[in-house]
Amino acid sequence: MTRPRVGIVGAGQLGRMLALAGYPLGIECTLLDTAPDSPGAQVADAVLGELDDPVALAKLAERVDVATLEIENVAVAALQSLQGRIEVFPPPAAVAAAQDRLAEKTLFHSLGIPTAEFVTIDSAADAAAAEKLGWPSILKTRRLGYDGRGQRVVDSTAALAAAWRELGSVPSIAEAFVEFDREVSLIGVQGAGGERVFYPLAENVHRNGILASTVAPYVDSALQRQAESWLTAIMATLHYRGVLTVEFFHTKRGLVANEMAPRVHNSGHWTIEGAATSQFENHLRAVLGWPLGDPSPRGHAAMLNLLGRLPPRDTLLQTSGAHLHDYGKSPRPGRKVGHCTIVDSDRARLFERLQPLRDLVYRCNE
Ligand code: AMP
Repeated sequence: MTRPRVGIVGAGQLGRMLALAGYPLGIECTLLDTAPDSPGAQVADAVLGELDDPVALAKLAERVDVATLEIENVAVAALQSLQGRIEVFPPPAAVAAAQDRLAEKTLFHSLGIPTAEFVTIDSAADAAAAEKLGWPSILKTRRLGYDGRGQRVVDSTAALAAAWRELGSVPSIAEAFVEFDREVSLIGVQGAGGERVFYPLAENVHRNGILASTVAPYVDSALQRQAESWLTAIMATLHYRGVLTVEFFHTKRGLVANEMAPRVHNSGHWTIEGAATSQFENHLRAVLGWPLGDPSPRGHAAMLNLLGRLPPRDTLLQTSGAHLHDYGKSPRPGRKVGHCTIVDSDRARLFERLQPLRDLVYRCNE
């Protein structure tokens, strides 16, 4: 019997968790990455090469039936070159929209999805235009920003102009600073026939611009409906297939969209143990044109990112019900080296159990 074969551009921890989710379903994943010891290449076959190398992409295309990606900063031309040979999901045009903060915000506005007020900054002289946003504001490069990289909080026109130069004098936007109560994200999946499922909203805590923890579900049926209707509009407009994540600020005036990711997302790692079907399995199902799985939560889940280095393994594993995911990476400050998740049927009890674990993890994160 021939096994369904999925190619994944990128072999970081997301590629690794996609490949692992494919195993029980008999899916054979082949990943493309530069390093033979990348997290994904440790658990599945890999083609070695740059993500935009035409020869490596051709090799990947020969070995799989359909391709997807685990990182959005892949050259769209590379995805299009794959598309000449095999199907690629999500569609490269959707990836292009998510790569550029201006394109992304323009799409959100065209669909009536609120965002922070913003202006484009293409030169130091454009800094004056940001005055109308009030101070502080946030300068963000249009491309290649993630985990707080490529952005600066600034409090004057002069500081904005200086920050723009510091960030490389590249096309950027300045955004009004949003006073939010919480940050939440919604993960949706669109299948081959346009069918959709949504996970419950999850609440995310960032430290230094990097996701530190996620708790789900964030129960608010009005917000859930609102966010689902926006993701529905985005996925329908982009002829989407696969997992799409949108991050929101929850403010006094409701949800304000921050950004979207055309892929499985760190704020959905809790779904491995905490939902009937994980985001990783559902992404593979969508890419292969299979029926989507039930996204219902199994009680309440909390996910903690392990940053820089792993806490002592035995201490983590002695915590009742803690699920450890070690990405097989060498330690480096700020690097996502793993995560752990706990699930409980009762939300209050989840927080009681979480506290010592969070203390340990936050103490060890660097
Ligand atoms: P981003 O790379 O856009 O996801 O930003 C990383 C983090 O910076 C977000 O999760 C927020 O915590 C914070 N942040 C980004 N944009 C804004 C904003 N306009 N106002 C307030 N905080 C922001």
